[in-house]
Amino acid sequence: MSTNTKLRPMYVQVNPLDTVAIIVNEGGLQAGTQFDSGLTLIEDVPEAHKVALVDIEAGAPILRYGSIIGYARVAIEKGSWVHEERVRLPVAPALDDLPLATAVPPPMAPLEGFTFEGFRNDDGSVGTKNILGITTTVQCVAATVDFAVKRIKAEILPRYPNVDDVIALTHNYGCGVAIDAPGAEIPIRTLRNISLNPNLGGAPMVVSLGCEKLQPVMLLPSNTLQILSSAPYVVRMQDEQHHSFGEIVAAIMQLAEKRLAQLNMRHRETRPASDLVVGVQCGGSDAFSGVTANPAVGYATDLLVRAGATVMFSEVTEVRDAIHLLTARAADEQVARDLIREMAWYDAYLARGGVDRSANPSPGNKMGGLTNIVEKTLGSVAKAGTGAIHGVFGPGERVTKKGLIFAATPAGDFICGTLQLAASMNVHIFTTGRGTPYGLAMVPVIKVASRTSLAQRWPDLIDMDAGTIATGDATIGEVGTQLFQMVLDVASGRKQTWTDYWGLHNDLALFNPSPVT
Ligand code: CA
Repeated sequence: MSTNTKLRPMYVQVNPLDTVAIIVNEGGLQAGTQFDSGLTLIEDVPEAHKVALVDIEAGAPILRYGSIIGYARVAIEKGSWVHEERVRLPVAPALDDLPLATAVPPPMAPLEGFTFEGFRNDDGSVGTKNILGITTTVQCVAATVDFAVKRIKAEILPRYPNVDDVIALTHNYGCGVAIDAPGAEIPIRTLRNISLNPNLGGAPMVVSLGCEKLQPVMLLPSNTLQILSSAPYVVRMQDEQHHSFGEIVAAIMQLAEKRLAQLNMRHRETRPASDLVVGVQCGGSDAFSGVTANPAVGYATDLLVRAGATVMFSEVTEVRDAIHLLTARAADEQVARDLIREMAWYDAYLARGGVDRSANPSPGNKMGGLTNIVEKTLGSVAKAGTGAIHGVFGPGERVTKKGLIFAATPAGDFICGTLQLAASMNVHIFTTGRGTPYGLAMVPVIKVASRTSLAQRWPDLIDMDAGTIATGDATIGEVGTQLFQMVLDVASGRKQTWTDYWGLHNDLALFNPSPVT
């Protein structure tokens, strides 16, 4: 890493049109600091926060990423701190007058010959891990399944060395809910599709209570039930054959051992990179996220798409304000309309709750220099790279297309990650500026830091430092290419992510927009 930044004041201006730039130096810079460009700070500006590059009149637009991120509430003098109180939020682009597939990027040159070592499943999907997942229909059985999983891991798993892990897919849905209400299909299909995630070998094992609303038949598709009738992978706790808690646990363990024996026969084999389904997400973002980590992820996204993979981006509230850019990039008009449909659904969902998109960003985002959702969005969509958008899927739907996909989810980290698992994600890339120990049990999570200071402070949590882009020590292309290689290594089991090293695996968090009873 260069030591220049310690000596020289630096800011990053993303686009030549921009009227603001962000301060690079750790700890921020004081009033009176002069930059190489001649700009002088007239007040203190914290690290990652914005400085006015020109005098901005009251009411005038403020530009970052070459786009309007807000309007000046007061006159802002050149060299001053452009913070939240000085910026008015613009209105979101109207959904009824958007460009439909008007600026479709031309196809990118294919990348041939990139492979990884994965576990092939009967349904054609490919796992990056070999995990026994035990699905549950209702929270009532969660503690029992957790109890059984502890014993399975201690007593049985060691005999099946080709299996990476045993995990309980527990959640708080399944009963006490309006199971037929509008919106209920989202948590139900999420659970169904998660149990079919490629990393679980494509054949779910289910523990059910018996009297719950979410019966196993609703959770499992009909073809899976046919398989189950010949080989029952369901343990129903209230069945009369079980005479004690001990017998129930024994039944779960017995079934688990049968599945473990099957999973243990699987081996990694060389697969084309096109079998990857990569979910990209950000969390704990700061103003650097949009100039370092997210563009580097975007570069890797383009490489993965060129290699034939599926890459999905999500987080509706963090694309809503850039929707006019995305509908133009849609591969065809139908994809553009599907994007608008998901935005409209979410607008209505937020309105029902009496909030709007200004509920995002978080206090940590704001401390990290992000003034409002428009600025956060313009940085967030950089993760989607530069290619055409090839498909749109609703929350909890399984993604069945290749290329760049929008999988609609809320922006909250765990809900987004859970929905991306349902969408059949097998590798996760997660960018962070403020820092988070976020991890998932089912797929490897590659964490990319937006700032070198974070990567250095958390060397045993952050997998890749993109902060070198801000200091000029690396280019977006260099970090993006490294990330692409890291995806292949992690997917192959050749490299372990820090969250897997420590076993930092957060709970599943279902998105349930329907009423509970
Ligand atoms: Ca997020």
